Amino acid sequence: MPARLIDGKSLAALVRASLGGAVASLAARGVRPGLAAVLVGDDPASRVYVRNKVLACEGTGLRSELHEFPEDASEGRVLDCLAALNADSRVHGILVQLPLPKGFDAERVLEAVSPAKDVDGFHAASLGALVRGRPGFVPGTPAGILRMLEHAAVPIAGAHAVIVGRSTIVGKPTALLLLQRDATVTICHSKTPDLPAVCREADILVAAIGRAAMITADYIRPGATVIDVGMNRIDSRDEAARIYRGSAEKLAAFDRKGSVLVGDVHPLDVGGRAAAYTPVPGGVGPLTIAMLMVNTVGSRERRPAVC
Ligand code: NDP
Repeated sequence: MPARLIDGKSLAALVRASLGGAVASLAARGVRPGLAAVLVGDDPASRVYVRNKVLACEGTGLRSELHEFPEDASEGRVLDCLAALNADSRVHGILVQLPLPKGFDAERVLEAVSPAKDVDGFHAASLGALVRGRPGFVPGTPAGILRMLEHAAVPIAGAHAVIVGRSTIVGKPTALLLLQRDATVTICHSKTPDLPAVCREADILVAAIGRAAMITADYIRPGATVIDVGMNRIDSRDEAARIYRGSAEKLAAFDRKGSVLVGDVHPLDVGGRAAAYTPVPGGVGPLTIAMLMVNTVGSRERRPAVC
């Protein structure tokens, strides 16, 4: 049977449309949920991510504001901006786009966001609530992964979920959410011996590594569900040729754009092994943004959203 594609783009549109009622009833009371994004430096990828979040706000009826700082801005200026946003009653959600430039103490900056407006879910209070299984803001990517698995009716309770990657923003919170849904969870990282063998045990395999096309066919148990979180921009033609194994069609697409976005899962292998999988682009990325919208509307309603 051909592998089923879990289409993040259309699910994200559904999730955002489902916010319409709440946004309309707030609008009827003269309230528009507002998201403030803080961007420091000129990282082109960060700029694209922030722009997409601002566009998603507009498309969902939310107010957005962008606070930009140059690469050499002092941490104090950014902290002052966060203090002002914390106090601003028109702002219901605040996000600090990561990574921050060298020299910034990312922990200190993230902790300066009020937990009541922490729609990215990166504050220690939000992560603590997640560990305890209490309501709170859940980071967008893990919440989006759960939403995709539920939408695709993938059984979670009793499944063996293997997560490659142990970051605080993706790997660990995804593990906690799956554990809450009664999966048996294994978290892998760069020191895990015989990673392909561990991954082959997975009913649900989540790749959150940051290494283009690393998860090849020999990591995937036939019939598994594969969630690809990775977003790796490839701008070397040689690298693209290696990943696409010389496919003329894929290389022609690369030549037209001059780069290609590749996940952590091998794009040519996954369809032949998995029962269901998320594509890159158009998989986890759009859900991450949609769940940020859910958290921002939930923040205004004083009911922090969990997925
Ligand atoms: P981090 O760099 O914080 O974490 C990467 C993890 O992968 C680490 O735990 C690291 O292990 C592990 N790892 C690295 N190399 C290997 C290896 N060879 N074998 C096994 N494990 C390895 O990344 P993030 O979690 O922030 O992001 C992961 C990917 O997801 C990136 O491509 C990022 O761009 C993407 N992303 C996508 C989002 C979306 O919306 N789609 C949102 C957020 C991230 P160790 O801890 O031992 O170093």
